[in-house]
Amino acid sequence: MKKIAIYGKGGIGKSTTVSNLSAALASKGKKVMQIGCDPKADSTRNLTQGVKIPTVLDVLREKDKVELKDIVTQGDLGVLCVEAGGPVPGVGCAGRGIITAFEKLEELHAYEIHKPDIVIYDVLGDVVCGGFAMPIRGGYAEEVCIVTSGEMMSLYAASNIAYAVKSFGKRGYASLKGLIFNAKNIENEEELVTNAAKEIETNIIHKIERNPLVQKAEDAGKTVVSAFPESDMAKEYRKLADLLFG
Ligand code: ATP
Ligand code: MG
Repeated sequence: MKKIAIYGKGGIGKSTTVSNLSAALASKGKKVMQIGCDPKADSTRNLTQGVKIPTVLDVLREKDKVELKDIVTQGDLGVLCVEAGGPVPGVGCAGRGIITAFEKLEELHAYEIHKPDIVIYDVLGDVVCGGFAMPIRGGYAEEVCIVTSGEMMSLYAASNIAYAVKSFGKRGYASLKGLIFNAKNIENEEELVTNAAKEIETNIIHKIERNPLVQKAEDAGKTVVSAFPESDMAKEYRKLADLLFG
């Protein structure tokens, strides 16, 4: 079982990238579990035809006895979808919620029962704190990738996340695999991301172009890999899957 966490600034394209990666890996016969670590709980939306699945924290609030099937939903191409969820707005701590969700998955033996080949954590995190750092410090993910464009704020977030990974890394937890360059088509973008990668002392794993097919697939509640498998964009996501897991 290989476990990888994908971080990045809000709105940068983490969930899109992760769900396309999951779909690419699943279409090659891998058993994939995608775990959304974001109170918005929309990480897996393109694997469930846009329909929101129950979150671990919602189910915990509603049921006395939680079963694994209540919190793991089979999505498109057989991807196992989990959304950690979040606290009631204004009450409780989102980071703490992620920890609770992870503990529940372990308690219910989610990994032993479903036996995924690959687990991908989709983590919201401009600043890596508390529960949002769980995938990298709790022995959950072995590798971390950061999604970024050339925009200053997303590079700033990337630098913060890289710093956190490196400081946890010293203690033998997850290591930084590199940047996933999700293009926004701003001026000098290639140069900006290349320079940032140098500064962070990491590499660009792969560049994903900006492509309207992403939106088109999303409107149909699907990933590009599933909706347009023959497209160049689907090929890019499959290439990224090979680079990360091949
Ligand atoms: P959040 O932090 O809010 O969870 P996110 O980082 O998960 O956001 P997404 O929801 O994946 O970001 O993407 C935000 C928007 O950008 C989506 O509407 C998606 O369709 C679009 N998008 C992401 N990547 C691309 C791309 N390569 N080409 C075109 N559109 C893209
Ligand atoms: Mg997201």
